[in-house]
Amino acid sequence: MVNTILAKRVNHIVAKGGNPACPKGSKSRGFSRQDRVSGKYVTVRHGDFSVSYCHLSECRVARGDCVRPGDVVGISGNTGRSTGPHLHLTVRMGRRHINPGILLQFIDKTRQQALEKLSE
Ligand SMILES: [Zn+2]
Repeated sequence: MVNTILAKRVNHIVAKGGNPACPKGSKSRGFSRQDRVSGKYVTVRHGDFSVSYCHLSECRVARGDCVRPGDVVGISGNTGRSTGPHLHLTVRMGRRHINPGILLQFIDKTRQQALEKLSE
């Protein structure tokens, strides 16, 4: 999913409504909530950091659910304070906000290294 979406701003990802939002990582647990700003959102904790997928039209994670790589955690949408359908990623390390681009680059690089190892 990350490969097919376009970074618009530091923490905004352009996505058409209805695309599945897939988390990365393993041994991760999530929950779903809703508020006026983020709309419907899913937060997945990956050990030291967490990723929130905001403005969803539909959440597909119940509190404490184990989330595996490739699982669909929600459907992108336009809920909360949003001016159009997009997937809003918020990445936190403890209480600190992290640029999601750093995480996405790390995932792409690790994936590429794994594919290279597999093709040797
Ligand atoms: Zn946003």
